[in-house]
Amino acid sequence: MILSKARTARVVLIAALSLISASLYAQRPQQKPVSEERAYLNSMFDNIKGQKIFETVRHLSDSTLYQGRLSGSAGMLRAVEWVENKYSEFGLETFEGLNGYRQDYPTVCDEVVGKCYVKVDGKKAVWARDWYSGGTSANGTIEAEVVFAGYGVTAPDLGYDDYEGIDVKGKIVLIEGETPNTSRNDDTLRMWYPYTLHQHKVENAVKHGAIGMLYRWVPGPNNGYDPSFVYAYVNYSLADKFFEGRGKNMSETMRQIRSEKKPASFATGKKAKLKMTMRHNPNAQGHNLLGFIKGSDPVLCNEYVVLSAHLDHLGMVPHHIAGANDNNSSTACLLAVAEALSKSKVKPKRSVIFLTLDGEEAGLTGSIYYCGHPVVPAEKVKYILNLEQIGIGDGFSTGTKYDSREIAKYLLDANEKYIHRPVFDSPKKYVTRPRTDGVVFMKYGYPTVDIFGFGGESYYHEPRDTWEIQDPSVLEDAAQLLYWSIINAANAD
Ligand SMILES: [Zn+2]
Repeated sequence: MILSKARTARVVLIAALSLISASLYAQRPQQKPVSEERAYLNSMFDNIKGQKIFETVRHLSDSTLYQGRLSGSAGMLRAVEWVENKYSEFGLETFEGLNGYRQDYPTVCDEVVGKCYVKVDGKKAVWARDWYSGGTSANGTIEAEVVFAGYGVTAPDLGYDDYEGIDVKGKIVLIEGETPNTSRNDDTLRMWYPYTLHQHKVENAVKHGAIGMLYRWVPGPNNGYDPSFVYAYVNYSLADKFFEGRGKNMSETMRQIRSEKKPASFATGKKAKLKMTMRHNPNAQGHNLLGFIKGSDPVLCNEYVVLSAHLDHLGMVPHHIAGANDNNSSTACLLAVAEALSKSKVKPKRSVIFLTLDGEEAGLTGSIYYCGHPVVPAEKVKYILNLEQIGIGDGFSTGTKYDSREIAKYLLDANEKYIHRPVFDSPKKYVTRPRTDGVVFMKYGYPTVDIFGFGGESYYHEPRDTWEIQDPSVLEDAAQLLYWSIINAANAD
């Protein structure tokens, strides 16, 4: 109700603006220059169109061409080339010292190159319902007894060890992501931080002699690699088979571990067989893409505002997950804004950088690399707006570092004036372990706003994240909101 009223108001406002400027034109066509706002609006209406953005999302979700855009893969490189061509079509400028728009960096790529399966007690598990291939699994087939090892954490400094009292030598461990810590207190989070890393789970399992893992977590290429360690991601539907007859399923057991801060590991007596056909490439390349529109002010053009979004996703696990919302929705909106600003008759005072990031899913490798190798001095960057999964929802949620919340104003003002969707602002207290590129930027001291779509039915790291359920009207509103936020920040005093 509130939404539709607000949207009606917006349409009326825009219609009124058009009428006013049309009548001004009619009276004094020569004397009255097009106002700056009118020029931005013209370009917005010409270039930011929901259906067109939707088509971009659909294109980047192509399974044959891009194969899920795994960082370091051939599919990702084709996506990079496609976006690069768009940058060039819009006439974005390049930075000196880069490879055209590309900021290349070394990375590692583990890719599925053949058949994968998971069997429990001889029965094949169902892909996506029960399991996904391990993003950084070794190549190989293993069969062994499964031992439940809680969170897979050994934290001597915290007096906690999921491996105490169990023998996992030559076995497959079944573990859950994260740690038993439930506190959101910064200091406590910092203490548990090293054990939250997926890499710790693999290293620790290998150290205890395990040969493989069933990891109850969403699929992704962000994990440790060990040439002798084969693993798969599993859902509770499969994991619970190892808890049959125990009175508690896996999630209830995890809840018990969290509340008692006491491990509950046990040998399950059941066997699993995993086959993962993988290729490990330690010499792969990542590619961030940077293009910019030069600011119109002779002094302020040496300052920058940045619109960023990660382009990569999970690759084939072993079947296709499109990552339409995560994060083609954002790439598509970023391109729409780049097109509208590049074709606008007026340009903002500060320069605007469009940055697509590689390797977000592989452990934020692209944003971390950028922060270590910035193309403009960090203190000249006045604002970064980082986009995550914005094609679905009734509104938006934004995250800023808790001590720099005022920078959300560019976006909140734009929303109030033009978009009228609910925006939920949440400060991020804790940036020790970033989960988004935006938080990486915050950690490095950049004034950054993370923006997500909020509400609606979205799917995360699973095959239902397809272009079909993207909403063109949401994409259009998101791109318009980003457009005005960037203009506001780039023109601010
Ligand atoms: Zn993701």
